[in-house]
Amino acid sequence: MAEEVQAPLSATMAKEAQSPPSATIAEATAPPQLLLFNSFTKREEPFQPRVEGKVGMYVCGVTPYDFSHIGHARAYVAFDVLYRYLKFLGYEVEYVRNFTDIDDKIIKRANERGETVTSLSSQFINEFLLDMTELQCLPPTCEPRVTEHIEHIIKLITQIMENGKAYAIEGDVYFSVESFPEYLSLSGRKFDQNQAGARVAFDTRKRNPADFALWKAAKEGEPFWDSPWGRGRPGWHIECSAMSAHYLGHVFDIHGGGKDLIFPHHENELAQSRAAYPDSEVKCWMHNGFVNKDDKKMAKSDNNFFTIRDIIALYHPMALRFFLMRTHYRSDVNHSDQALEIASDRVYYIYQTLYDCEEVLATYREEGTSLPVPSEEQNLIAAEGHKQQSE
Ligand SMILES: [Zn+2]
Repeated sequence: MAEEVQAPLSATMAKEAQSPPSATIAEATAPPQLLLFNSFTKREEPFQPRVEGKVGMYVCGVTPYDFSHIGHARAYVAFDVLYRYLKFLGYEVEYVRNFTDIDDKIIKRANERGETVTSLSSQFINEFLLDMTELQCLPPTCEPRVTEHIEHIIKLITQIMENGKAYAIEGDVYFSVESFPEYLSLSGRKFDQNQAGARVAFDTRKRNPADFALWKAAKEGEPFWDSPWGRGRPGWHIECSAMSAHYLGHVFDIHGGGKDLIFPHHENELAQSRAAYPDSEVKCWMHNGFVNKDDKKMAKSDNNFFTIRDIIALYHPMALRFFLMRTHYRSDVNHSDQALEIASDRVYYIYQTLYDCEEVLATYREEGTSLPVPSEEQNLIAAEGHKQQSE
């Protein structure tokens, strides 16, 4: 099958089932069956788009307050491979990847640098896009910014409150986890584990410590928007519920991100979306593994943390992409100098081979003759000769 020959890069992303020998011509020309691992059901499932021939995919984007690290590169290369493969299979893909351009970290960094939140986030959005170009990640079909969707966020929070699943206190709005029995169905956590992954310190005004902010009242010196609950800004999670529904509808096919986003971010997203609109559904949740350094988790504090810029200053960007793609997307990648050297050598070998082939073919093109095709026997002899040479 032509698809199998032309799509080697997808091998770690998806498996294709063999067509039965009795398949009709129509079945044989249909896209091969794709199996994707769904983090919600914890198993591989046949991919069935909601609308035939079309795929809606949402991948959580970066918070642009600094240069992106190779953990970001991992996620966006993995979903770029999936995006390319779905397009290759003939699907029309609506791929949405957002920018979280309002956040505590952006505000803090902008204040430290004496610049506006907008100028800081715009600068690092541009830097991120340059990194994505270097890594040959195709641009998504849509790259919305949170600050362009405040009205949709306010509408969504209002709907959740009208459904009795959120409450306002002193200009803040919290999601009430006890009002949503499905809470923790994605991560499979128990309530007493909740605080481990939470970004916010314990707030005694909350009805349950696990309740999370949908809207935060404005503090002195912070950007704000007017809302029914007073001036403030969105909490972290609500943006993706609002933007995915806005661009892809309440039911869409694939929602992706790093596995660190399963809790709390995606758990909270799922709760918000379904609390507002009970028919909301993500057909397949997909999560990629981490990048570790010498078998330890990368951390700025341990000084074993690398930005994409750090790596591509030393290696060709394709070496980084190749290095990230050599490991199955759900497994952790272990970064080491040796692994990058090997990836770099392999990429050099691939490009050198392509260059050598092109050189040979160019001679024939100039002469206007076609390249003689060796027989199977000649190929075997040549292969044996190469094997002996390399031993
Ligand atoms: Zn998100």
